[in-house]
Amino acid sequence: MRIANIVYLPLVVSLCFTPVVSGVQLRPTVFEPSPVSYRDWQPDETAIKDLFLTPVDNGGIKEVITAKYVRRYQEWKSEFLSTPMGRAEWDSYGRNGRFVLTITVSEENSRGAGTSKYKWNDAGELVAATITLGGRISEGYPNPVYYPVMNSLAPGNSSYSASGSILAATKIAHEFGHLDRMAKTNAAVYRLQSQLIPVYNSILLSNGRNVRDPRLIELAQRMGGTPVELWEDREYWGEVKAMVFLRDKIAKQGYQCSLFNKIREFVDTYAKAYRQRFAEVAESTPASYECSW
Ligand SMILES: [Zn+2]
Repeated sequence: MRIANIVYLPLVVSLCFTPVVSGVQLRPTVFEPSPVSYRDWQPDETAIKDLFLTPVDNGGIKEVITAKYVRRYQEWKSEFLSTPMGRAEWDSYGRNGRFVLTITVSEENSRGAGTSKYKWNDAGELVAATITLGGRISEGYPNPVYYPVMNSLAPGNSSYSASGSILAATKIAHEFGHLDRMAKTNAAVYRLQSQLIPVYNSILLSNGRNVRDPRLIELAQRMGGTPVELWEDREYWGEVKAMVFLRDKIAKQGYQCSLFNKIREFVDTYAKAYRQRFAEVAESTPASYECSW
């Protein structure tokens, strides 16, 4: 239906698959497609089961940062915590004795980030997750089709462009968006999706990529959407949180209107069905701004 779905199909297939199983493969590749072909991928039942083990811990945020990354990580974190949104997120997870958030920095996917290793307890509560930040997240703008907020920061897109720690903190905010959303996701639903998405993709590859295949329609109904739909819904929730961060970060600067206009343009072009969730952030800004969403 959408141009994006047609033009970006190879990319979509690669990307949509990766985040869902990132906890399985431990290879988050949010911004850069995984080099692992999904043709070669096989479900790992042992790993899927591991998603649902109950960890024993005292909760809070555990920062596992090697010496190489400590300095830059502190800069990114300080930037994130310079906003009300960042502080609220940090406090929320930091004070939660029933949830363990691990944050680490990795060489892999250096300009991207990912959230994985979700774990639920027997009561269906999310009790652990890991945010993995690339070592160079202060650089690189992911594509505007699925990342309309982060891409809006690229030079030339609006009168406000950002790199360095602000870009890095925006990517951190995006990951907290994933986390917040997953905390509201039913564990059984996530388990079902994790199990059925590989089945869906396998059929899709074997039937000439016919999405009207009755088997695929039934699988999508059971999962609550096609793999692409599930994936883009998650990514756009991440982007909404990134937008909240930028709303707070540049609230007192005249650039916000220009930046939000660019985000709106991208959303209207690529993500119209998800417009409302972005509009709510834009409309939460002070009325003194003369830009409307
Ligand atoms: Zn994401």
